[in-house]
Amino acid sequence: MSRVLLITGASRGIGAATALLAARDGWTVALNYRQDRAAAEAVRERILADGGRAALFQADVSQEAEIVRLFQAVAAAFGQLHGLVNNAGATAPMGRFDSFDAERLQHMLSLNVLGPMLCCREAVRRLSTLHGGQGGVIVNVSSAASRLGSAGEYVDYAACKGAIDSLTLGLAREVAAEGVRVNAVRPGLIDTEIHALSGEPGRVARLSASVPMQRGGRADEVAAAIVWLLSDAASFCTGSVLDVSGGR
Ligand code: NAP
Repeated sequence: MSRVLLITGASRGIGAATALLAARDGWTVALNYRQDRAAAEAVRERILADGGRAALFQADVSQEAEIVRLFQAVAAAFGQLHGLVNNAGATAPMGRFDSFDAERLQHMLSLNVLGPMLCCREAVRRLSTLHGGQGGVIVNVSSAASRLGSAGEYVDYAACKGAIDSLTLGLAREVAAEGVRVNAVRPGLIDTEIHALSGEPGRVARLSASVPMQRGGRADEVAAAIVWLLSDAASFCTGSVLDVSGGR
């Protein structure tokens, strides 16, 4: 029987690439999106055309009530959950830290820290054998920004991803004996729309020379690492943070 995987922010970029690859790996995929239903629907259609199984679930995963509703809707549609990819996230317009107001910082924290934490909580409540679950796996999408710091761009975003690294390590150890593995990937410069949304569509090209491999990465290269961490091939990996960053 196909195992059920929820991917947040699956309408494009790394989330969409992960959905396509995970479906090929046999997962039934719950595709979360916030606003771009047409893009999410296109991902679902590609999965179905490939012979896979997927459905769409709208929710803003920066809001607790919507997260709780999302997990309930996935359970109603597919039954027992087996995996979560905590992928939804965003940067914000680039600037100096001393120019950021509380509204921006609140938004960054809600989307990039509070949301993933609450998604982890909801997942553990369903996966952990302590709660009657069958075990499962969580992959958090962090960023190389957590160790680079993103000075002059978005220090707040980098700090949020630092929190994701700590969350991954601590939660992994807390639930390791309850059948739940928790890992993270730290993508480097990946060619997706996230850069245009933070004000610099050409950011990957500008910074490619700073990558030891001399290029930006592709969403499918990150997806491959995520799907491996989800798989039984990674059965002894927990609390790991895997850099997918071309050496940067
Ligand atoms: P992207 O192309 O901008 O895609 C972001 C996805 O998240 C979209 O599907 C978007 O859906 C969804 N989303 C945004 N806010 C949401 C919310 N409140 N609720 C639900 N969904 C929401 O970004 P990406 O590059 O694939 O990034 C994916 C993850 O990788 C993020 O956590 C990001 O921080 C991380 N990352 C990216 C890079 C990179 O260079 N690209 C590097 C390191 C880490 P809607 O359009 O429907 O809102």
